[in-house]
This record gives sequence, C-alpha cells and structure tokens, in this order.
Amino acid sequence: YDDRDGKIWMDGKLVEWRDANVHILTHALHYASSVFEGERCYNGKIFKGVEHSIRLRKSAELLDMEIPYSVEEIEAAKYAMLKANGWTDAYVRAIAFRGAGQDMGVSSGKNPVRLVIAGWEWGAYYGDAKMSGAKLDIAKWKRPSPETIPTAAKAAGLYMICTMSKHAAEAKGCSDALFMDYRGYVAEATGANIFFVKDGEVHTPDPDAILNGITRQTVIGMLQAKGVKVNVRRILPEELADFEQCFLTGTAAEVTPVGQIGDYTFEVGQLVRDLAAEYEALVRS
Ligand code: PMP
Repeated sequence: YDDRDGKIWMDGKLVEWRDANVHILTHALHYASSVFEGERCYNGKIFKGVEHSIRLRKSAELLDMEIPYSVEEIEAAKYAMLKANGWTDAYVRAIAFRGAGQDMGVSSGKNPVRLVIAGWEWGAYYGDAKMSGAKLDIAKWKRPSPETIPTAAKAAGLYMICTMSKHAAEAKGCSDALFMDYRGYVAEATGANIFFVKDGEVHTPDPDAILNGITRQTVIGMLQAKGVKVNVRRILPEELADFEQCFLTGTAAEVTPVGQIGDYTFEVGQLVRDLAAEYEALVRS
C-alpha cells in the first residue's frame, strides 16, 4: 500500500502518498498507543462520519491521549483527503497515535499525539460471501475483560489477536473467526459484530466486551423500526445449534450473511437478504 499515487492527510497537511511516513521510534509502533476508525464514503457522503469522529476521540481518551483536533476539524480533514484523491466512494481510515519525541520508554507523556487520515477504494469485505454466506472459524483467543484492556476503544492493541485469529481461520479456508469473550459467551468477529435469527426474532451479544459497532447500532434501529424484536443478551456457544440465520455487521462488512460457523450451518434467509438490501439503500440515500 505504500508505493502509489495519491494524498494522505497528516497532522493538518495533505502529503504525497509515498511521503506519508513516520519515524521508526514512533511510540505507537512499540507500545500500541494507537486508535483508529474505519468509515465508508458513499456517493460523496461519509456514512455516520460524525459518529466515527466522536468514537475516535473517545477511543483516544480511553488510552489517555488527546487528539489535538475537534470533531469538526476531523470531519473537514476527511473530506479534504477524499477530494484530493478525487473519490466519492472509498474507505476512510483515521488513525491517532503517539509519535516519536522525547520519550522512548513506556511512559510517553511528552510525545505528540498525531492524526493521520488516509483512504482507499475497498469493495465487499468478505467478497462473494456477501451473497452466499461467510464461513467462520471459532477463534482460540478470547475477547478480554473490560478490566484487562479498554474494550470499548477501537485501539490497535486489541487487534493483535484479531490478526492471529484471522490468519488461523484463513488457513482453514474460512473468511473470518468468531471470538468468544473471557467468560465464554459469543462475542464478535475480528472486524465485525454478530447477529442471529430464530423464530423471527434477532439475538445479538451485549456490548460489554465487544466493540459496540456503529453499524450494529444502526442495524438494531432498522430492525426495531420494522417491528422485529431484537434481544441484546448473553449468548452461549451451544445456542449456535438452534439459530436459523446469522449475519455480521460492520463498516467494511456492511451486512454480510454467515453460512457456517465451525460445524454449525445457517441459511441465507429472507430477513438477512432484506436487511442487507435496506442497509445498502440507507447508506446511499
Ligand atoms: N468489532 C470489531 C472488532 C471491529 O473492528 C469492527 C469494525 N470497526 C466492528 C466490530 C464493527 O464496528 P463498526 O460498525 O463501527 O464499523
């Protein structure tokens, strides 16, 4: 991704894609002092852009970092980056992190918090699974307790186990991995939230040890508006045997049906198909 034409917004300026570098003694690279956002721009408008900017600032706060830009400034920077690249439809990646500075130890009080906004063109996150249903492996790693790490932050440190679990899943021919949490309840995938359908009702995990996705919240609202009951609760892995349909939600994943988790199979049914189409219409409206 480093050798191409384009512009990236770095600390207040648009720079050439190839020059968007950081020093090797950047604190974040050593100690994961980094938080980020993934957003999608559709037809020139970033879906829930402000919500993403607010979450970015909150994630930073949870890591004791203050982003030196307001929500309004972050919004303006995203659109400046999109315009400079001539994109109306793109994935937007904002990342805030502690840079290189006076401290190279764990403590980094004097190192500046930097903000970078890049983007790229990104199609369906799970490829053909969008139609046929994604196949998920069950991760051997568990989502940690909120007493262990700030699980509400979209922080780089939480993605170490995501990359490891996704690699293990891909080696088995799956598109992603489903995490259980530290208590053993169903949690989320490596970059998306999970939902199940049974007897016309929807079930999804409590957001206490997962990222409470912006797409998750949008989809819960859409289902409730249609009169579908959404049960937000603790879900045991044994229940996977009883659910009829399953789907993932996320900015990149949008609404993607799941056909298989480990040995359990699910139909790509009407509720999931309708919801995927309604989500598509909403983000483009
Ligand atoms: N969980 C994880 C671990 C994620 O990385 C993402 C993607 N940001 C999500 C859930 C979905 O969040 P959102 O809908 O806000 O993109």
